[in-house]
Amino acid sequence: MRLVLLGLPGAGKGTQGEQLAEKYSIPHISTGSLIRSVINSGLKLGEIVNAYISKGNLIPDELMMEMLRQRVLADDCRNGWILDGFPRTVKQAMHLDETLKQESSKLDRAFDIRISPQEAVLRITKRRVCRNCGQIYSLEQDLDQESGNCTSCGGPLYQRPDDNVEVAQHRLQVYMEQTHPVVHYYAQSGRLTSINGEQDIDAVFSDLSDAVAVLLQKSKDGGRA
Ligand SMILES: [Zn+2]
Repeated sequence: MRLVLLGLPGAGKGTQGEQLAEKYSIPHISTGSLIRSVINSGLKLGEIVNAYISKGNLIPDELMMEMLRQRVLADDCRNGWILDGFPRTVKQAMHLDETLKQESSKLDRAFDIRISPQEAVLRITKRRVCRNCGQIYSLEQDLDQESGNCTSCGGPLYQRPDDNVEVAQHRLQVYMEQTHPVVHYYAQSGRLTSINGEQDIDAVFSDLSDAVAVLLQKSKDGGRA
C-alpha cells in the first residue's frame, strides 16, 4: 500500500501515519525522519543535505526527490509506505509520480485529513512535547494528572518555540499556497479521499482504515497488489 497523507499542520498526519504503518507493517516516512536518517547515514548525500540544513536553507526539490527515491527503494518498503509531509508542492507530486512510474510502481491513494484553519491554530498552540522522549501531547489530553508530565517516561513537557499563533498562521499560509494545490492535483486524477480530521483520533483512524481496506480489496479483485 503506497499512501500519501495530506492535511494542515495539526491535522494529525504524524499520529495517523504511525498507526497505519503499524497496522499494515509498512514504514511511515515523514520528511523529518527522512532528513535525519540521511544525515546520520554517513553517506555523501547526508553531507550535502546537512550543509543546507546547518545554514538554515531549504533542501532543493531535486535533492528531496533523490532522498525519497533512495528511501522507497529500500528493502523495508517492498510492501509499501506512508508518506507524511511529502509531497509539499505540485512539482514534487508530479516528480513522485514520475519516479514511481520508472520503478513500475504507483501511488495507491492520497488522503486529505481535513480540519479548519481555526482548529489547526488551536491544536498547534496547545501542543506540548516531552523533553525526554519526544512524545507529543495536547493540553486537553490526559497527562499525568498530578505532575503534568509525560505519561510514558515522566519527563517534563515544553512548548516548542515554533508552536505559537504567529508561526502557526504563517505555516498555514505556506500550506495553503504551496501544498493545498497538491490536494487538487490528486483529486483531479481521481486518487484523493477526504477524511474528517475534526473527529477524535480513533474515529479518524477508523475512517482511514476503512478506506485502506477498500483499496486492498480492489487490488485483490484486480489480481495484483
Ligand atoms: Zn516522555
